[in-house]
Amino acid sequence: MIAQATALDASVLVLNRVYMAIRVTTARRAFGLLCGERAEVINAEGGRFSSYSFESWTEVSAFREMFSPHTDWVHTVRRTIAVPKIIRLLGYDRFPVRRIKLNRANVYARDRSTCQYCGRRFATSELTLDHVVPRHMGGASSWENLVCCCVRCNGKKGGKTPAQAHMRLIRPPVRPRRSPVLTVRLSQDKYACWQAFLDNAYWTVELE
Ligand SMILES: [Zn+2]
Repeated sequence: MIAQATALDASVLVLNRVYMAIRVTTARRAFGLLCGERAEVINAEGGRFSSYSFESWTEVSAFREMFSPHTDWVHTVRRTIAVPKIIRLLGYDRFPVRRIKLNRANVYARDRSTCQYCGRRFATSELTLDHVVPRHMGGASSWENLVCCCVRCNGKKGGKTPAQAHMRLIRPPVRPRRSPVLTVRLSQDKYACWQAFLDNAYWTVELE
């Protein structure tokens, strides 16, 4: 049951009708789009591309040897279906112009869960967001003023600027050019097949 939940939370790259990457969604939502015939599966394993309707995808899922060891599987009463890595929307051809959302998950991902003061990595439960210039001094909630910070460093810094607290940032915070969460996924073998759709530098992808 736990494995099933994890598989449904796996990441799926969403392409628009003209094969342009537009966002990352969960397998759960991707299956919803596939069942409603609003999307098809793009299989890009091994450098070859093929597309499948949901029906044909469930059929090829029977041939397990076709799939990489990274594949996630979901189990229905009647059969086992591979979680696709990429889907293509059949009726959506708008150009993706969304901005990357400024939120906790994206700041943690940009900073790779590393405290920007002590330089150590932490579990997300031990991290917090720090305003470099504190809010009471007019510091904005922006990509350039928010960093990932461990609880200990956050306590040490208090309501001060880094200079006042005698602390230094390990790197200046910047607005990321592409979804930080996507960059993290791309570093994993499991999502290597996304790369072919991500070589254009001008688009950004947002997580749902
Ligand atoms: Zn720290």
